[in-house]
Amino acid sequence: MHNSPAPLDAVSRPVDYLRISITDRCNERCLYCLPEGFTAWTEREEILTYEELLHVARAATALGFRKFRVTGGEPLVRRNASDFLAALIAQPGVEHVGLSTNGIRLSASARALAEAGLRSANISLDAVEPAIYRRITGGNVREVIAGIEAAQAAGISTIKLNAVLIRGVNENQIWPLVQFAASRELILRFIELMPVSLTSVLNEENFFPVGEAKKAVASRTAMIPDLTRHGNGPAAYYRLPELSATVGFIGALTDLHFCETCNKMRLTADGSIRPCLGNHGEIDLKPALRPRADAARLRKLFLQALRDKPREHSFRDRYQPNRVMTAIGG
Ligand code: SAM
Repeated sequence: MHNSPAPLDAVSRPVDYLRISITDRCNERCLYCLPEGFTAWTEREEILTYEELLHVARAATALGFRKFRVTGGEPLVRRNASDFLAALIAQPGVEHVGLSTNGIRLSASARALAEAGLRSANISLDAVEPAIYRRITGGNVREVIAGIEAAQAAGISTIKLNAVLIRGVNENQIWPLVQFAASRELILRFIELMPVSLTSVLNEENFFPVGEAKKAVASRTAMIPDLTRHGNGPAAYYRLPELSATVGFIGALTDLHFCETCNKMRLTADGSIRPCLGNHGEIDLKPALRPRADAARLRKLFLQALRDKPREHSFRDRYQPNRVMTAIGG
C-alpha cells in the first residue's frame, strides 16, 4: 500500500485529446515563451519524423484518442506541415484535428491547409496595436491579421484567437481584442500567464488574472455565462449580446477547477509523452519508435502515461520550469 493518489486511467477520466508539437522552432520570440537569446533548438534528428508522428497517432487512436492538435514551436515553419495534417486527418479513428499557430505564415499556407482538410485553427493574438504586438512577440501584427483573413477565405471555419495576459504590457488591449474578434465573428480567449519556459516568465508584477480581464470586459458590455462547449479546452465562456460575440477565459492558475475536466496529453517535439503541461513527468517514446516502430511497446508506454496523469498541475506549487514551451507545444 502507498499513499499517493490513485492514478487516473482512460476509464476513470476519458483522456482522448493529444496535442502534437511537430517542431520546437518558432519564427517569433514571445516574452512569455522563449528566454532571451535562446538558440538551443532541438537537433533535427531528435525531432520525430512525420512517419513516426503518425505511428504515435495510431497508438493513440487505438487507445481511444479522437482529437488532435498540431502545434509547436510554430508548426507552419516545418516543411510540408499541410501534408502531415492531411495524413493525420485521414487516419482512421481521428475525429478532429486543429492547428495552433501564431498566424505569421498563415496567409501563405491557408489554402493548402484547407485542402488538407483542416477546418479548425487557434491563432495567437496578444494585441491588435502593432507596437504592443511587436513588443510581445517581435513580429508584425498585420501579417497575423492577413493570415486570419486568408484562413477565413480558405474555409477554415472554426477560428479561435488566444491572447496571453501580461500586466503592464497588454491589459489595455483587452477591449480592442474583444472588438477585433467581434468584428470578425471569432471566438476570443484570454489566457493566464503560466510559468512554462526555461526562465521565470511569471512573477507578481506581470501576472494578470482572468478575473480582472473579465471585470474589464464587464465594465464595457453585458456578459452572460455561456455553458455551450466551444471545443475541448478549460475556458469559461461568456456571450456578449451587444456585440454578438463570445469570449472565453482560461484561468490556468486562478481557476481551482482548472484540471477537473482535463482530457489532454502532449507529445513533445522530441518524442516524449507529457501527461500534464504543469508537471515535469514525461515518458520518452523514442525507444518504441527507433530503429523501427513497435506498436505493442508504444501502447505500453501510452498506458503508462495515462496512469501517470496527475490529478492536477503543479503550477501553484513553486513550479520550476525545465522545458521551453515551444518544445511542449502549449
Ligand atoms: N506557435 C503557435 C502559437 O503561437 O499559437 C503554437 C505554439 S504556442 C506554444 C501555443 C500557445 O501557448 C499559444 O497560444 C501561446 O500564446 C501559449 N503560451 C506560450 N507560452 C505561454 C505561457 N508562458 N503562458 C501561457 N500561455 C503560453
